[in-house]
Amino acid sequence: MKVLKFGGTSVADAKNINRVIDIILENKRDTVVVVSALGGITDNLIKLATLASKGDMGYKTLFSSICERHNQIIRDLIKPKEKEKILREINIKYKELEEVIENIFTTKELSLSALDAAMSFGEQLSVYIISEAIKNRNILCEFTDARTLIKTDDKFGSANVDIEKSYKIISNYFKNKKNLSIMGGFIASTQKGITTTLSRGGSDYTAALIGAALNVSTIEIWTDVDGLMTADPKKMKDALLIPEISYSEAEEMAYSGAKVIHPKTIKPAVLKGIPIYIKNTFNPKGVGTKISNEKENRK
Ligand code: ASP
Ligand code: MG
Repeated sequence: MKVLKFGGTSVADAKNINRVIDIILENKRDTVVVVSALGGITDNLIKLATLASKGDMGYKTLFSSICERHNQIIRDLIKPKEKEKILREINIKYKELEEVIENIFTTKELSLSALDAAMSFGEQLSVYIISEAIKNRNILCEFTDARTLIKTDDKFGSANVDIEKSYKIISNYFKNKKNLSIMGGFIASTQKGITTTLSRGGSDYTAALIGAALNVSTIEIWTDVDGLMTADPKKMKDALLIPEISYSEAEEMAYSGAKVIHPKTIKPAVLKGIPIYIKNTFNPKGVGTKISNEKENRK
């Protein structure tokens, strides 16, 4: 069993989502897919909530453009026969988001829990659209609301996961699942069912939690760069790809600001000895970076 996680750029538009589905097709069985919000959407949702909290009516235009971005993908990827039904379903989600934002507009208050509720729509929308796009390519696929599987405390914005409880729920949930499963990263909920998030970039962490709970063979983080590099390639032209690295070195790089992987991703994997591969959706044949203890053990 494997976990494949695809980041925001990988699912930013219809063309990229089709690339992602090609990669999923190679792994189809016994795979859990974790997806981020469409690239840029989480930032837009924060902007949306902030505008509303300031009483700025401009939020309405931004709200429409967020919906339109998702609708465009539905128009691009879904067969005409299915389109109406899916647009109807997604409209229910838009209404829910609108209510969250209108409430912020009315109260002029942006609590961390309201912000989590708003941000969660990025993954709620992306997972639904991507699951339908997968079905549209004749692959059986079931989508799950990550909030029912990952339980946290109420530290909104960067909630702490109740590992024991979540692993129990996850392993029970997947016990008899045979088809491809897909869920959104980043989002979770408190014991009472209130939406929380795992902090920005937290979809990687979701993938690691699912992988560790299910004792998978590998966790693959599919992103828009070839892997971990010796330096930031945007600043240093001669940055080199690191093909193999230990958990502790990777964790140190992540905590010191390398954006490729969320720092919390490493721990669940180390504890179960599951290798993490960082791979590039736009260069799937590339070797990527393997994070494990193998290199150290060879010494
Ligand atoms: N969508 C969330 C963010 O932009 C989580 C993630 O992409 O990992 O931070
Ligand atoms: Mg990321």
